[in-house]
Amino acid sequence: MPAKINFEKMQLASQFLDPRQDFKSISTEFQVRIDPLTGRTGHFSHFGAIKPQKLDLAKYNDPEIKGFCPFCGEFKTKVTPKFLPELIPKGRLSQGEALLVPNIQPYDIYSSVAIMTNEHVVPLEEFTDKILFDSFSVGVKFLQRVKAFDPSLPYAIMTWNYMPPSGGGLVHPHQQYFTSATPGNQYTDEFNASQAFYNTYQADFWSELIASEQVNNERYLGQVGSGHWLVPFVSSGVLGEVMCIFPNVFCIEEFTDANITDLVKGLQLIFRYFLDNDIYSFNASLFWGVKGQKFFPAHLRIIPRTSLNTRDFAPDSNFFQLLLGEPLCVVMPEDLCKDVKKYFEQKS
Ligand SMILES: [Zn+2]
Repeated sequence: MPAKINFEKMQLASQFLDPRQDFKSISTEFQVRIDPLTGRTGHFSHFGAIKPQKLDLAKYNDPEIKGFCPFCGEFKTKVTPKFLPELIPKGRLSQGEALLVPNIQPYDIYSSVAIMTNEHVVPLEEFTDKILFDSFSVGVKFLQRVKAFDPSLPYAIMTWNYMPPSGGGLVHPHQQYFTSATPGNQYTDEFNASQAFYNTYQADFWSELIASEQVNNERYLGQVGSGHWLVPFVSSGVLGEVMCIFPNVFCIEEFTDANITDLVKGLQLIFRYFLDNDIYSFNASLFWGVKGQKFFPAHLRIIPRTSLNTRDFAPDSNFFQLLLGEPLCVVMPEDLCKDVKKYFEQKS
């Protein structure tokens, strides 16, 4: 019987006369991989050519660079909006330091920002379990409230841009939570492909993926409670990607405090890897599926972000991602897995 999940890759090479070796003919290898779920391709080349660049976080507190921050001090309640009382009776949701408010530049009909901390600049090592738990918790509560209030928007998403190289406009830690009928092309492609897989095999792709990755043991990082962490076969980020899947947790209504606790524990391991490898910035997304289905479980994706240098701060994305719609990665997933796995092995 053919395997349900195929990890298909093309090992390719480009030949040229190399000026660094007296114009000797050389062959440089690269790889194109096909995502086993969606069939989308991803390029792997330029190996080792992009290194994470250190950020001087202290400078973000310099008044000239800081400018006005709507999330600092008294401003976070004075200049941020409130929700309509029929949705959130108190106008905002709070827990610990986390305060969830409407996004003043909404992405969708119910669009929120969770201000995570009182501090303006928070290095990764200063994100305590409590800060992370409280922030995810107000976000999940908001999404659950919205889904009960207006079920016409079936898809729920958390997004997080951390530090300027990620494209984040504000240094002050914050996450976005929103529901949508149009959750983006990545989500839509994965959701549709997961449904097709389920219809073909009467099995959930994501659980099959975990089982398959555990057996081949090339990209599986480890289990932290209800979350299974692994490195995807095709990476969205230039410096790779890590994901966490919560099997059998199919919608926001099923996402519990225990899931959040497990997510935070795993995320702290990723943050330790980031800290040891000069990764100061990332994008993260947490996707929840539609209530009632059994093929698209909750999962998180996190990708490091950097600039190519600190001379002219060229961004790490270019025509590949933005115009070709093609991920380009300079790290092989199996190598990234080896590096990150140490943190999962040391966790207990
Ligand atoms: Zn601030």
